[in-house]
Amino acid sequence: MKLNALRTFKRSPITRLNSHEEVRPIPTLERLGYDSWFQRHADEKQLAAHGIARVIAVHKDRYVISQGDNEIIAELSGNLLYGADSPMDLPTTGDWVYADAYDDDTHAIIYGVMPRKTLLKRKAVGKLVEFQLIAANIDTAFVVQSLNENFNIARLERYLVMINESGIEPVILLSKSDLVVENKMGNEEHEDTLKRIRAVAPNVLVMAFSNLNDAHISEIAQLLTPGLSYCLLGSSGVGKTSLLNSLLGHEKFETKAVSNIQSKGRHTTTSRQLIALESGAIILDTPGMRELGGLFVDHGLDETFSEITDLIQQCRFSDCSHTNEKGCAILPALEAGAISPERYQNFQKLKKESDFNQLSYSEKRQKDKQLGKLIKRTIKNKRR
Ligand code: GDP
Ligand code: ZN
Repeated sequence: MKLNALRTFKRSPITRLNSHEEVRPIPTLERLGYDSWFQRHADEKQLAAHGIARVIAVHKDRYVISQGDNEIIAELSGNLLYGADSPMDLPTTGDWVYADAYDDDTHAIIYGVMPRKTLLKRKAVGKLVEFQLIAANIDTAFVVQSLNENFNIARLERYLVMINESGIEPVILLSKSDLVVENKMGNEEHEDTLKRIRAVAPNVLVMAFSNLNDAHISEIAQLLTPGLSYCLLGSSGVGKTSLLNSLLGHEKFETKAVSNIQSKGRHTTTSRQLIALESGAIILDTPGMRELGGLFVDHGLDETFSEITDLIQQCRFSDCSHTNEKGCAILPALEAGAISPERYQNFQKLKKESDFNQLSYSEKRQKDKQLGKLIKRTIKNKRR
């Protein structure tokens, strides 16, 4: 296909800057969350050569980018695609990119990814050390669990670990409060739940809410700051879609999130993964968020279980198994009740999972086989 003469995106004053001088970004970019942080961290050569846009959806190798008032189908430049060492080097939803539009804005080419404030990623299943990007530049993640059946402190910790690991600020939302307050046990149970959450996440904001309660929804809406990006994480069925609907107002959600993006000359149907609320806040909702299962943990574990990991540093042996070693710092702390056994168990579970995720594929298969054999053996023994 022959390209028309190159036409870059409308240039904002930013793109012509040669110094780190503060200049207000153009309002449409700002509406999508562009701020002085990106301005300061941008690559000046790329800025001088290209426009800026945010990735609002990714579908395999097809990207949709926007500058706030437009949506253009984009692909990666050859240099970006073939020069990438890992998936980390490629754009994901929420990324700010250097890009130019061609052919009367019917399509665009992405030349580079701007530095990221945060990155939400997960370990890709069955690959060596690869991970899958879920979304970039999310400021705050709402972890949603329902008070009636889904609430699970270990799962909550798992989400907090992942969020801490990503550099994102967590907020805990407990949904379906209407279902627990109605029975008499409800309030006591609720208090107990809050206590358990405070024990694992003392500095995280916790809110109980019902999607059926308008006052609750507006309280949550007030937590949203214009220009910041948010996401909703949690198991399916806990009420994330309902909350998103409530925040958007039903009609808007239907028209916005499921709207077809049709660029001139080409018919394409894509669902948006980045939604700008009227209030100015931005919500990211990518398919990857719905399947957050694998965990890629490094310092996230340390942050979430700091009292435990701090103690482990004090064990005499660096490979202490905390079972019978002399000079172990964990055993006496467990005995004295300084660490709760429940929390220690969760830590061990997550640590095992994290270690497992960091094994190579062949090592994993080996482990799986051993585990398979062990299970078979156990079943056999039971049958005897
Ligand atoms: P998602 O899978 O997390 O997006 O959950 P949905 O928003 O699709 O909700 C799952 C189910 O829970 C639906 O049947 C909703 O009507 C229901 N639901 C959502 N929020 C509430 C709530 O606050 N209270 C009650 N009682 N039901 C809710
Ligand atoms: Zn120890």
